[in-house]
Amino acid sequence: MGIIVQKFGGTSVADPQKIHNVANAVIKEKENGNDVVVVVSAMGHTTDYLIKLAKEVTLNPDSREMDMLLSTGEQVSIALLAMAIQAHGYKAISMNGQQVGIITECIHSKARIVDIKTDKLKKNLEAGNIIVVAGFQGVTPDGEITTLGRGGSDTSAVAIAAALKADRCDIYTDVEGVYATDPRIVPNIQKADVISYEEMLELARVGANVLHPRSVETAKQFNVPLRVRSSFKLNNLGTLIIGVENMEIYKPVAGVAADSSQVRILLSNLPDIPGTAARVFGALAKNNISVDMIIQSLASNGTNSIAFTVDEDDLNGAIDILETVKDEVKAGEILIDKDISKVSIVGAGMVDRPGIAADMFRSLAENNINIKMISTSEIKISCLVEKENAKPAIKALCKEFGLETTEMAVVKGDLPNL
Ligand code: ASP
Ligand code: MG
Repeated sequence: MGIIVQKFGGTSVADPQKIHNVANAVIKEKENGNDVVVVVSAMGHTTDYLIKLAKEVTLNPDSREMDMLLSTGEQVSIALLAMAIQAHGYKAISMNGQQVGIITECIHSKARIVDIKTDKLKKNLEAGNIIVVAGFQGVTPDGEITTLGRGGSDTSAVAIAAALKADRCDIYTDVEGVYATDPRIVPNIQKADVISYEEMLELARVGANVLHPRSVETAKQFNVPLRVRSSFKLNNLGTLIIGVENMEIYKPVAGVAADSSQVRILLSNLPDIPGTAARVFGALAKNNISVDMIIQSLASNGTNSIAFTVDEDDLNGAIDILETVKDEVKAGEILIDKDISKVSIVGAGMVDRPGIAADMFRSLAENNINIKMISTSEIKISCLVEKENAKPAIKALCKEFGLETTEMAVVKGDLPNL
């Protein structure tokens, strides 16, 4: 007999009928002979609704009060799910973050979990209870209620699984697992049976929205086997996410993703002397602006240009800072390009297989897609393209790397916007 942690998102508990469906899935796992802890999000669009409500009261709500407000969403769904499980004749108890002892740092609206107390969880499991825990919330050592950031229930579930040394953490969702790209762009896309934490993290960073990235980081850190599976096809195993060292086969390219939320900044005509890049990026870092792709190139007249990308939300801040260091580093112009999308291929198997980058560039060229910038990491190659080319690029790359199949992907409910 093992311990299984399950997590159900807002759409899975959106109404009483769906809550009963979740109760059935929970009971099925209990009937398999496992101890079950189930983490749930707030019902449907409750969190969005609560945020809207707060903004109608004041445009600038206090972050502590926001956490007080948002944490109520999950308290509703845990109580209802516990009642539903009990109505099916099983023992269940709901617990909020404070009752469990999900201890976080005191940073409202994006707190990190620092510790999870397991004594009450263990006691309740020993008493034969199915435990229903509120996702997304925690408590500081001083007793202040915090939340973990949007989508944070995934992280609550994985952290509880790590603390209890659970056999597995199953994240139930509206899709049947992790697809190699967004099925709304390539409907006949393959689902991965197994993917590594490393690949999943890269895909999450470049725009795949299945899991809260911190949940994957936590799973990797504590080696928690993670399954992403369908809440409406309970017999499907979905996608297993494990360490790359435990995988028997991995493909050169496991997934393709696009991120259209960045802008490119170019500094031209910089003198080719030591300290210029350090000064520019030091100033940005000091102001908490993260930079993604960076390219420095030397022109034939002996000057450098440095191009880099930042999140579009950081653009105005970045320009202000660059204006202040521009004269000091003797830069020519500051040029902005907003018409970019970063298309990336990710795969643990590209490490020892030459030619993957060349295949990517050829495939884009054959589709008349111009590459504005290239960057690589060990298991990822990214190309900046014009925004309107992002979808054609994804389609071309899925074909190029054999990620299509004959079946249509099944997607239900609401997926985040592209
Ligand atoms: N209810 C929270 C949100 O909507 C947390 C979650 O769903 O994971 O972001
Ligand atoms: Mg989610």
